[in-house]
Amino acid sequence: MSERFEIAFLGTGSPLPNPDRCGAGNVVVAGDTHVLVDCGWGAARRILPSGIRPSVIDTALFTHMHTDHMTDFPDFLFLRWTAGAQTPLRVFGPEGTAEMVEGFLLALRRDIGFRIAHHGDKLHPDGIRVEVTEIPATPEPHAFLDLTGLRCESFEVDHFPVVPAFGYRFSFDGRVAVLSGDTSLCDSLAAAARGADLLVCEAMNLPMMEQRIAGLNAAGMTRESGLLSDVPSYHIATDQIAALAHDAGVGEIVLTHIIPPITNDPGQVAAFGAGMSDVYAGPIRVARDTERVAVVKRPS
Ligand SMILES: [Zn+2]
Ligand SMILES: [Zn+2]
Repeated sequence: MSERFEIAFLGTGSPLPNPDRCGAGNVVVAGDTHVLVDCGWGAARRILPSGIRPSVIDTALFTHMHTDHMTDFPDFLFLRWTAGAQTPLRVFGPEGTAEMVEGFLLALRRDIGFRIAHHGDKLHPDGIRVEVTEIPATPEPHAFLDLTGLRCESFEVDHFPVVPAFGYRFSFDGRVAVLSGDTSLCDSLAAAARGADLLVCEAMNLPMMEQRIAGLNAAGMTRESGLLSDVPSYHIATDQIAALAHDAGVGEIVLTHIIPPITNDPGQVAAFGAGMSDVYAGPIRVARDTERVAVVKRPS
């Protein structure tokens, strides 16, 4: 029997407010190993409803330094600590990760002292400690960690002007899952996705974006429409994902980081992925917050 290899979706949204979708966050579950990937707004609150105890997460990865991928990290640190973590959290990410963690820990410093003063040795002092390793940016997959058979590789993607920005490739028990991070269409993502059993890809529906921009313009909200018009340049469109996955022989696509914001309404979800199955024959789904998706061996 194959070992458990799943991706838990904590947040499937973007910076744009959405009642159903928090900021970006996933947990990669491989056997008994749990790896957090990003922790955007609200993502830490989704860990327990996703069926995961925060204290079992010993490793966290960050894809890039955008707020919608990091601002719930201090909450995660506290949840993990108060849930009984006794070992330092290992954190990996691109350049800037150490500075981010240092800033959050500085912000938490007083409260860490208050909690220890109040709860004493019920809270292990190592549970809040963080060990950061910044990973070099390479376009080809770079192996940086092996956790009881879970091989973790990073690759640089194109989210310019956010430099560097990473996607991650996870191999476990003969299966491969690729998480795109935030990116526009780029060769490094296509190369990393080659032969993957599961591609978890950020996704933008361009016609929906254009409709929203036109609506803002019609309402005279030109500043807002101008800001929204900047968004497509550093994200990947649904038709591009379908073509990439087809060419790369991907087994299954799960869309996340959904832009523009849509709810879980089935009509909106169906409209979001419209046209993709004309190009890509495998299963396609739009992830929901707290959903868990198994990484299944793709048919050869
Ligand atoms: Zn993002
Ligand atoms: Zn981003």
